[in-house]
Amino acid sequence: MSPLIALALFGTIGTPELIIILILIVLIFGASKLPQLGGAMGKTIKNFKSEMRDGMAESTPGTATAIKFCAKCGNEVKDPEAAFCHKCGKAL
Ligand SMILES: [Zn+2]
Repeated sequence: MSPLIALALFGTIGTPELIIILILIVLIFGASKLPQLGGAMGKTIKNFKSEMRDGMAESTPGTATAIKFCAKCGNEVKDPEAAFCHKCGKAL
């Protein structure tokens, strides 16, 4: 955390100081670059979100839908290739 943000959080600087900080940020990055900066941040957040989604999709593989349940005994048949319930022998 930057010392300026720490100061702001601890209330030792008020709104006028924050406005000065914002003006400094504009001067440092240039007003014309601020939209780019915002766009870059937006893209970063978008990429982060899509990667989060991909990660979630990978952690819940599609094989989850392939799990069958025996109609007779309700046993969970984990092998998607299984033709018979391995518990009671009923055809799936
Ligand atoms: Zn069964």
